Amino acid sequence: MSLLVVGSVALDSVEPPFGKADDVLGGSATFFSASASHFAPVQLVGVVGDDYPMGQLDALAKRGVDLAGLERATGRSFRWRGRYRHDLNSAETLETHLGVFSHFDPKIPKQFRNARFVFLGNIDPRLQLSVLKQVEKKPEFVACDTMNFWIESRRPDLLALLEHVDVLMVNDGEARQLTDQANLLKAARWILERGPKFVVIKKGEHGAYMFHGRHVFFAPAFPLEEVFDPTGAGDSFAGGFMGYLARSGTVDQEHLRRAVVYGSAMGSFAVEKFSIERLLDLEMAEIVARVKEFRQLTAFEEELPR
Ligand code: AMP
Repeated sequence: MSLLVVGSVALDSVEPPFGKADDVLGGSATFFSASASHFAPVQLVGVVGDDYPMGQLDALAKRGVDLAGLERATGRSFRWRGRYRHDLNSAETLETHLGVFSHFDPKIPKQFRNARFVFLGNIDPRLQLSVLKQVEKKPEFVACDTMNFWIESRRPDLLALLEHVDVLMVNDGEARQLTDQANLLKAARWILERGPKFVVIKKGEHGAYMFHGRHVFFAPAFPLEEVFDPTGAGDSFAGGFMGYLARSGTVDQEHLRRAVVYGSAMGSFAVEKFSIERLLDLEMAEIVARVKEFRQLTAFEEELPR
C-alpha cells in the first residue's frame, strides 16, 4: 500500500562533533522517503526552490519515490543549519531559512488523493492540515511529527491538527515543551487526551517509547560505536515505522510495536553516514539482520532461581 508524505525537502549544513557538510540533501520528507521506500512505494509532496540540485533526487525516484507532488518554485530552497556538541541526541539549530516554504500552498496530485497511509512530516502545521484535508477518504492511519520551532510559533494550529492524527511522533524535549509536563508518562497522557490514539516519544540513543491508552511499549536504540551524523534519525525512524505499517496494511497494537522496532532500526542506519547516503545503499537483508539484533538486545527469561 502506498504511503503519502508531506514535509521539508531541504539543503542541510550540519556540524556533528567530527566533520562538517554543507548544502547536502536533507529535510523531513527526504529522510522519510529514503527510509520508507525500503518497505512501500512513497508519494512525496513538498517544494524546492530553483537552486535545488534536482539531479540528486534521482536516487530517491529510483527507489520508488514518486516525485509528482514536488513543486519547483522560484526562489531559494528551505535551508537548515545545525550543530551537535557532545550530546548527539539534540541538535542545536543555528539557522532556519524557510525560503519557498513560506509561500507554499501544497496541492496534492489527483493520483495521490486516495492515500491510505499519510505521514505529516515536520513543517508548518497549517500546511500539514491542508494536505490532510485534500486526501479524499479518511486515511487508515495518519502520523505526524513536529519540532520546537513549530511548537513555539504555531501552537494553536498544532493543537487543532492533533485532533486529526492517529500517532504523534516527537522526541522527549518536544513532548515536554508541547505539554509543559516534565514526566513523560504525564506528557503522553496529555497528548493522548487531545486526539492521537498513539504517541511515540523518542529519546535518541536511549530508545523510544510508544504509549496507547494504559499500554507502554519500549524499544532500545541500536548501540552504535560510531554515530557519524544524527540528522534525520527521527524522520528515518518515522519512515521505517510508517513504511512497515503500509507494507503490512494492518494497524493493530502488535503491528505498531513491530513498527517501532523497524523505525528504530532505520534511525540507526541513517546516522551512520551524512545525509541520506546510508539509507540509499542499504539492503533489505541488512534491515532484517538488524531487527533480529534488536530482539537479542532485550530477550531474557523471567526465571527466579529457587
Ligand atoms: P530529524 O529527523 O529530527 O533529525 O530532522 C532533520 C531534518 O529536519 C533536517 O534535514 C532539516 O532539514 C529538517 N528541519 C529542521 N528544521 C525544520 C523546520 N523548522 N521545518 C521543517 N524541517 C526542518
